[in-house]
Amino acid sequence: AIDIEGITRQFGQTEVLKRIDLAIGDGEFMTLVGPSGCGKSTLLRIVAGLEQQTGGAVRIDGQPVDGLRPRDRDLAMVFQSYALYPHLTVAENIAVPLRMRRLASHQRWPLIGPLMPGTRRQTRDIAAQVMATAAMLGIEHLLSRRPGQLSGGQRQRVALGRAMVRKPRAFLMDEPLSNLDAKLRVHMRTEIAQLHRRLGTTFLYVTHDQAEAMTMSDRIAVMMDGAILQVDSPDRVYDDPACIRVAEFIGSPR
Ligand code: ATP
Ligand code: MG
Repeated sequence: AIDIEGITRQFGQTEVLKRIDLAIGDGEFMTLVGPSGCGKSTLLRIVAGLEQQTGGAVRIDGQPVDGLRPRDRDLAMVFQSYALYPHLTVAENIAVPLRMRRLASHQRWPLIGPLMPGTRRQTRDIAAQVMATAAMLGIEHLLSRRPGQLSGGQRQRVALGRAMVRKPRAFLMDEPLSNLDAKLRVHMRTEIAQLHRRLGTTFLYVTHDQAEAMTMSDRIAVMMDGAILQVDSPDRVYDDPACIRVAEFIGSPR
């Protein structure tokens, strides 16, 4: 679960987020929609810990995370520009979060870290996890390639693989499909929905694509000018918009 409580964010004099409250339940798929510049990415970056709020608090599974570094929040992020390491293979790219976690546990236990279970066994475990993840996304045959040798859609899957390899507490995705062509976008939409069903992990998802929002979400949050105007099931947002601005944005005949 992700609890966003009274989050504000100011850039100079401009208040980009105005006391945002949003509660995302355990395993819920929440989609954030709204016009360009309304503050969606800023909110996601604050939840991720990549940016500081001016006020308010974020809790993940009940734990306050303010002050925690991004990687200690145990979230997986996929952003529009899914940066892969160009010099690493697909398998190595997917394994990065697993190696980072091992490193982190060594840092916490500097004395016993290097003596902990044989590195050979850890390497085998990592390889098995990478393989299982790749199989889930249908990219087993690409593991030894480098990002430069992949199509956009394949790269997108690698980014998803890297995000899901360590079973995070929640996924944050900011328009992860916007660089793909229409056909692939529809395909990946189904795959993300399946991933959600299979893992049952909490999602906070941002999209410009109304069909995506409609088909994937448990609930949709409509955001405008730094405020959330309605949080409801897709059907209700479309059939019963909370105000004229939501109706106009969603484009329902009213
Ligand atoms: P889009 O749909 O285009 O991605 P968004 O809803 O994600 O838009 P944000 O990127 O969150 O919007 O930006 C919200 C507002 O905050 C915008 O007006 C933007 O110009 C402003 N903003 C974002 N980052 C900064 C910054 N570092 N300094 C000043 N203003 C910023
Ligand atoms: Mg954005």
